[in-house]
Amino acid sequence: MTKLSWTGFSKKTPQERKEHLKKNALLSQENQDLLDKDQQLTLETANQMAENVIGRFTLPFAVCPDVLLVDGVTYQVPMVTEEPSVVAAASYASKLIKRSGGFTTTIHNRQMIGQVALFDVPDKDDASRKIQAASQNLIEIAKEAHPSIVKRGGGPRKLWTETKGDFLIVYLAVDTQEAMGANMVNTMMEALVPELENLSKGQSLMAILSNLATESLVTATCRLSTRFLSRNKEEAHDLAKKMEMASQLAQVDPYRAATHNKGIFNGIDALVIATGNDWRAVEAGSHAYASKDGSYRGLSTWTYDQEAKELVGELTLPMPIATRGGSIGLNPSASIAHDLLNHPDAKTLASIIVSLGLAQNLAALKALTSTGIQAGHMKLQAKSLALLAGASPEEMPQVLAELLKAKHMNQETAQAILEKLRTP
Ligand code: NDP
Repeated sequence: MTKLSWTGFSKKTPQERKEHLKKNALLSQENQDLLDKDQQLTLETANQMAENVIGRFTLPFAVCPDVLLVDGVTYQVPMVTEEPSVVAAASYASKLIKRSGGFTTTIHNRQMIGQVALFDVPDKDDASRKIQAASQNLIEIAKEAHPSIVKRGGGPRKLWTETKGDFLIVYLAVDTQEAMGANMVNTMMEALVPELENLSKGQSLMAILSNLATESLVTATCRLSTRFLSRNKEEAHDLAKKMEMASQLAQVDPYRAATHNKGIFNGIDALVIATGNDWRAVEAGSHAYASKDGSYRGLSTWTYDQEAKELVGELTLPMPIATRGGSIGLNPSASIAHDLLNHPDAKTLASIIVSLGLAQNLAALKALTSTGIQAGHMKLQAKSLALLAGASPEEMPQVLAELLKAKHMNQETAQAILEKLRTP
């Protein structure tokens, strides 16, 4: 079978894009059929996934095609997002980085952390010593609470204690293999409670997984040759300097840091949602991690290596991502997403996600420090306004052209343009 080139993918209709996936044999027959019939999540399945279900809420499912190069492999990246420009920006930035050699990632570890918070402990130092001394026995109790993960090669790895305020907190790091592991870690933590209360002579307030997954850190780095920022050497140099400054600004101003990080999550959430993962868990962990030095900071850094004429990007995030469990096996859209990515394991998926976040960040910083974000956004905003006003695909080009020229680009103007166009 001859594989089709991805050039011009963005210009195709959704139907043509589906054909493209079929011709490139990217999906299993079952998933291709689901996509063709636009029948992903049935009401019956939806009703099993949550309570009081009355329907399904759908979102655009897009592909960032053939440009995200991570550790030598190029991925077709599924992205679920309602925000215009996110997929285009990810595509644009990933293309630039691919030309410069792509992303390199490091998985620092892949374990989830659970905690039991004990209160009314009469002597915390003594309790801590007793718990540490009993850690092997406690790890055995945790293993017995969820033996199937131990059979899969995972399970509890390390136990430690910390005193914080009035609490003695017991932490357990667990290798959850391909799952995010919330339920398995929660089961283990609850199983530890009686013995921890016995050893500490205190009481447990709660036993649960922590979303601050500092034992699941992933770093993505890239080196972007500044010649891809502009053909004009001086302009490229100025832009690289400004992008480095934009990164520094996000380190010192939480107001900017929040927006800087939101841009990163435009890409990350889109892929986390597409793959059926828990995006609240990923968001909570990363934003807590952004405050690890006591002040909320930008999660990524960009430095300008003037000698090499390269902009060096780095992003480290906790990425407790899964390829099994949760809703992954239930939502057929998630299965299509895993097919598109060629079924990476959880570590590889985490690397892809963090790399995409760094690409998204590059696109935002480049736009902000050059043309400004509004130039591109207003075109897409005009499209949304025209759609809301009810413009048909045939009417769209003319409505868009008029809207972009209009003094006030808003819903009222879009409607007026459309009415004028329709008046014989
Ligand atoms: P599950 O409860 O679905 O557990 C993972 C499942 O995947 C297990 O049943 C396991 O089977 C199976 N599995 C199959 N293959 C593998 C493999 N190779 N490695 C690991 N597991 C495998 O999901 P999680 O425990 O991951 O919990 C995630 C869910 O919990 C999400 O829906 C999340 O939203 C929710 N949650 C999140 C919380 C939080 O973030 N604070 C708190 C509570 C819930 P087996 O048992 O046979 O090993």
